[in-house]
Amino acid sequence: MKGRPDKRKNDEMRPIKAEVGVLDSADGSAMFQIGDTIAVAGVFGPKELHPKHLQNPERGVLKCKYDMASFSVTERKRMGPSRRSKELGLIMQFALEKSLFLEQFPKTGIELHVEILQANAGTRCASICAASLALADAGIPMRGMISSIAVGRANGQIVLDITKEEEDAEDATDIPIAYSVKDGELTLVQLDGDVTKEELSKAIALGIKGCKEIYEIQVEALRNKYKRR
Ligand code: UDP
Repeated sequence: MKGRPDKRKNDEMRPIKAEVGVLDSADGSAMFQIGDTIAVAGVFGPKELHPKHLQNPERGVLKCKYDMASFSVTERKRMGPSRRSKELGLIMQFALEKSLFLEQFPKTGIELHVEILQANAGTRCASICAASLALADAGIPMRGMISSIAVGRANGQIVLDITKEEEDAEDATDIPIAYSVKDGELTLVQLDGDVTKEELSKAIALGIKGCKEIYEIQVEALRNKYKRR
């Protein structure tokens, strides 16, 4: 059977690097790289939310912004927000907010900005990993960090950390997931394409395995910041 284009095993992720405290201007920040995909996240707040009608008297509001730099992809993309970037901001919010004790910050807003500097698939997952690290770096109380990875069906097989080349092949399916290792709970499952029930179960199990590996890397990145001091 034909293997993966970059020779990885089906359950193998691309090399990962993670670092926190990469932006002096933010209250918390992180860089997360998986293969050629690089996401940088900055957290600002919690601070009083304006305009006031957006405030929630019972809990803080997490506002997520996703942006892909025009130079991040080979075919330069148009600058500025798009339908896709707005959707990905909401997806980040859904995947992350359950992990936070937002009820401790009524009337405030936490702004989370993610910039994709390089893209080769899996940018929403890299964004969630970077964002969760940045929230932890900002000291926002949380149940635990969220880890995220895209699983997929490529070349008739379920594979971990699908690349753009694999995604673009005929009959490919992209299944991004986000997972809280601490709670043992999925916070996001998306499905772009068709899979059987068995394939989906296999993909989710493989994704959870990947998230557990990513979680260890996230914890190590946080530890490294304190070692640097
Ligand atoms: N992509 C691109 N130009 C765009 C949007 C996406 O080249 O305007 C590429 C990029 O490599 C991205 C991939 O297509 O990672 C898949 O994009 P998708 O919308 O599925 O989200 P992602 O997999 O990055 O979360």
